[in-house]
Amino acid sequence: MDQTPLMKQYLQIKKNYPGSTLLFRVGDFYEMFYEDAVSASKILNIALTSRDKSKENGIPLCGIPYHALNSYLSKLIKAGHQVALCEQMEDPRFVKGIVKREVVRVISPGTLVESELLEGPGNNYFASISIHPKVSAFAYIDISTGDFSCATLDGDFAISDLCSELDSLVPRELLVPEGTFSDPRLKSIELNPKWKIHLLPRESFASDNNIFALQKHFRNSDFSRFQREDQKAALSAAGALFTYLMAMVKTPLSHVTELKWIRPEHYMVMDFSTHRSLELTQNSYNGKREHSLLSVLDKTETSMGGRKLRKWIYRPLIQPEEIVKREDAVEFFFTGFETSQRLRGNLKTIHDLERMISRISLNSCNGRDLIALKNSLAPLSSIPQHFKTPLPSLLETLLEKWDNLDDVFHWIDASIVEDPPLSIKDGALIKRGYSSELDDLKSLGFNLKSTLANLETEEREKTGIDSLKIRYNQVAGYYIEVSKGKTGRVPDHYQRKQTLTHAERYTIPKLLELESRITESEKRIKDLEGSLFEKIRALVSAESPRILAMADRIATLDILSTFAEVARDRGYVRPVISADNGLKILEGRHPVIENILPVGQFVPNDLILDAHTHMMIITGPNMAGKSTTMRQAALIVIMAQMGSFVPAKECTFGIVDKLFTRIGAADYLTQGQSTFMVEMMEAAHILNSATSRSLIILDEIGRGTSTFDGISIAWAIAEFILKHLGTRTLFATHYLELTGLSLAWESAKNFNIQVKEQNDEIIFLRKIAAGIADRSYGIQVARLAGIPGEVTQRAKEILKDLEDKTLSREAIPNRLRFANDRGTTVSEVAAFPSQEENRQREMIEILKKTDHFNMTPLEAINLIHRLKLMLDEKREGSS
Ligand code: ADP
Ligand code: MG
Repeated sequence: MDQTPLMKQYLQIKKNYPGSTLLFRVGDFYEMFYEDAVSASKILNIALTSRDKSKENGIPLCGIPYHALNSYLSKLIKAGHQVALCEQMEDPRFVKGIVKREVVRVISPGTLVESELLEGPGNNYFASISIHPKVSAFAYIDISTGDFSCATLDGDFAISDLCSELDSLVPRELLVPEGTFSDPRLKSIELNPKWKIHLLPRESFASDNNIFALQKHFRNSDFSRFQREDQKAALSAAGALFTYLMAMVKTPLSHVTELKWIRPEHYMVMDFSTHRSLELTQNSYNGKREHSLLSVLDKTETSMGGRKLRKWIYRPLIQPEEIVKREDAVEFFFTGFETSQRLRGNLKTIHDLERMISRISLNSCNGRDLIALKNSLAPLSSIPQHFKTPLPSLLETLLEKWDNLDDVFHWIDASIVEDPPLSIKDGALIKRGYSSELDDLKSLGFNLKSTLANLETEEREKTGIDSLKIRYNQVAGYYIEVSKGKTGRVPDHYQRKQTLTHAERYTIPKLLELESRITESEKRIKDLEGSLFEKIRALVSAESPRILAMADRIATLDILSTFAEVARDRGYVRPVISADNGLKILEGRHPVIENILPVGQFVPNDLILDAHTHMMIITGPNMAGKSTTMRQAALIVIMAQMGSFVPAKECTFGIVDKLFTRIGAADYLTQGQSTFMVEMMEAAHILNSATSRSLIILDEIGRGTSTFDGISIAWAIAEFILKHLGTRTLFATHYLELTGLSLAWESAKNFNIQVKEQNDEIIFLRKIAAGIADRSYGIQVARLAGIPGEVTQRAKEILKDLEDKTLSREAIPNRLRFANDRGTTVSEVAAFPSQEENRQREMIEILKKTDHFNMTPLEAINLIHRLKLMLDEKREGSS
């Protein structure tokens, strides 16, 4: 097939970007061809045409105007496309034949930098993982902020820890070495719809090459000293990611100034299900941020503070000194209301420094970005003035060698006009007085314009045509316009350019010469402005490390003062760290639920775990508030170890090294595992890794299987914790049988959340008290939920039967006939064992185990006596 040179060039370029939608710049448009055009036209809702309309099967084509690029890009990216942006690398006016074109950037959800394309101020990560026999490594980068980190995980739970890490990072894309997913433990990563996975050949993760790539970028670090297996694993993940991104972005990532090593072991360990069930950053009903812990705490004034706060939530500290440092700083703001207010007044005016720096470094900024940066640097100098010594040590460190960035401020202030245009190519960017060369060019241009005005007056006088005008338009350039009636007076040397209905347009040699001088001067002005802008941009970009360091300090100041503000608004107190493994919360509240309920409606509760009580077994009907009480304890511990104040009247706690939350019957079916399997895997995880310093929350564990299985497993798990771990544990259950644990174990105590019955109605008191709940009140709760009266009435009958223990095998068929009419299956009801059946089974078991050939007559009599007692017990029960 004959191809035009343009299409040849297109296909040549497209060949290198098979997985991307190629946006091919042609003049004022980005054009798409073939398959790209077909699918993009649908997503963008634009016309699909054909390149050569004369032919029947022309090449499909669609296009978008260059100035509307971002809005179309965002639609393509949202629809899951990766876009290769191909620009004209030469000015077509100065080129004969085909202009040079190149892909300047590949854009995908994980490589966005434009605020129009990013969703909100949160981190936008691209991550990579690398699984080794002994360790699992991961790395992640947010090129919109320059945040680049890596870490390794080891031990038996490295893989599930990795899943939790990814869960908290929520990367948009993930690089994975080929073959990784043959490991079934990684199913939840493979199948997670939140990120797009790119499988890369294993060689891309070869650590030596990657260390080399990192070394080339981070010249000041020495990567060769990292020789341990775990270190090399982390660097291979980081290097593969970095190399991949460089190829996408095609610009040096100069704002990525540091590769941070995260040491997960320096923070409280929380697993995936803990993140979820505690609703740390997203609620469980729609996955959004509202009604999460983050939503309560995030009153930060800056985007940097908001992003960092989210990280703090996922990484509570475990070093008491570090926690105390944060608490001291929060207290400083808590008591120093004015300082806090003044600081926050300044913070309000600081824009997203990290994102601005990234755009500036990646050369995708305009004059407005620089002005926004300047305005955000302006308040820096006032901040230290609000603080009066003596300062708590963390604040002292933050304010030490405070960098106002005056130089950067002044570079921009001296050069860029206050209200610059969107484009950096159209001039009008640079302030007068910044460059004498530019000012000279501009006054020259000004002179040319006045020469033009003079020429107009001259020609009017010479020709005597009053209405003669010199005008300009983009197509015709400069011309002399004479209205139709006056054309008779036009001199001979006027050359006709254009005829309109009402006028004629001419030019003359003098005008032609002037025009070329004006065009030339304008081009020189624009070029010079462009290169001056580029110089300033480069100058600012070179200071990224300093600016980012200040952004980081600002983020921390923001969070600390935010904690103080929230504490003041909500009546939180400073928690006290103790050396023991206790947890004492007096009048604790759930930070999120207390916010949702009308003021004063939340009932505060005490909760004390100490040397005498390792485990609280909490019973109470559904809806009583068991889960709430337990989660509130976990949230209070997390808040305390983040350095925040807590919603309680008083709180003393021993550091929690690992926090486990197992909430029964969560739905992970989408991830290919049955609920019960997940529940047991998580329980196994807890039993294998909890220490005496941990906190375990077991909410209705064992719910995912049959009643007796459930009770037995829950019992055995609790027993294991009490016997071998001694871990602080909160254990909620609706199986009243489990309260028996307290008889065997002194450190297990029974509590219940109180309810009151009034005229067959249940009233929730929400107060926790010592002792066991008297019964389940399931039917009352069902009525509360709007179950029809007929059903609850029937349920009451059945309950009575069950409680009377008369539901024997003989009694079942009668009830079944009735039940069947309502669609219940026989086996379901029959499978429900009665108390008597259990006893019978137990008696049979005893007989089976008896070795009657080796029994003394006395032992035999005793056995018969015991069996008879069991029979009698049954009679008593049923009478
Ligand atoms: P359970 O786990 O016992 O079934 P939940 O903890 O889920 O009960 O609580 C059910 C609802 O009761 C919560 O969503 C909340 O609205 C309310 N609630 C729980 N505890 C309290 C409390 N202390 N004060 C006020 N309302 C509460
Ligand atoms: Mg519950």
